[in-house]
Amino acid sequence: MDREMILRVNVTPLNDKEIIDSINQRIQAGLKSTIIAINPEKIVRANKNEALLELLNSATYQIPDGIGVIIASKLRRGAIQSRVTGIDLMEQLLELAHAERYRIYLFGARDTVVAKAAEEISKKYTNLEIAGFMHGYEQDTDKIVSDINHCRPDLLFVALGSPRQEFWIKENLDKLNAKVVQGVGGSFDVLSGNVKRAPRVFRKTGLEWFYRLMKEPSRIRRQLVLPAFLLKALLNRKEDLV
Ligand code: UDP
Repeated sequence: MDREMILRVNVTPLNDKEIIDSINQRIQAGLKSTIIAINPEKIVRANKNEALLELLNSATYQIPDGIGVIIASKLRRGAIQSRVTGIDLMEQLLELAHAERYRIYLFGARDTVVAKAAEEISKKYTNLEIAGFMHGYEQDTDKIVSDINHCRPDLLFVALGSPRQEFWIKENLDKLNAKVVQGVGGSFDVLSGNVKRAPRVFRKTGLEWFYRLMKEPSRIRRQLVLPAFLLKALLNRKEDLV
């Protein structure tokens, strides 16, 4: 798998179509894949937490979800061209599931949210099968894993927020029978219609962060990591090349 390292964190320098093709090839070859989203906040956090760093780097695909990751790569003349968000990739995997009649399982979010997300997905992607779903506040991990395996999904989406979902995936991956496991954060809230995404114009121009900041001014604390992150990424370019 191609990789580009940014401050010790691997990022997959493929666009969404290339990632979907690659995942489908791995499904056909019987290989398990894990997908996690990378943004500057996660990179900064992973640099202070070796366990998180190791688990991010051990995923099959680290998608460039935050615009800051693309800016850092461009400043360093790297290969990452376009943003691949968790929810967009999930929707493309749902399309793949629709085309290939794959079975999916949704794990995470509040019970009414995950149920509504399952309902909306089955209305839109009529060919895929919802193998099962479970809310994200169940504490009994054995129960969750055995329900997932009993339902035999091809694709498993885990929406517990970050980094909880990444740790959950890593801890349980060997026990899970699903072929693809993606950590999708708050995506079920969006798919259920509970939370609206930024209008297309903001998404297309890389200004989704600005829209979200307008809606939730307290996000400024999360977004303030960006300038320091970019500077550090530029200064540490050589270390990432080895
Ligand atoms: N969540 C969950 N179990 C928990 C904590 C959170 O299922 O113990 C869900 C929560 O209901 C929400 C999602 O995880 O649907 C978190 O979304 P958020 O947007 O905070 O995640 P991010 O994408 O920012 O990591």
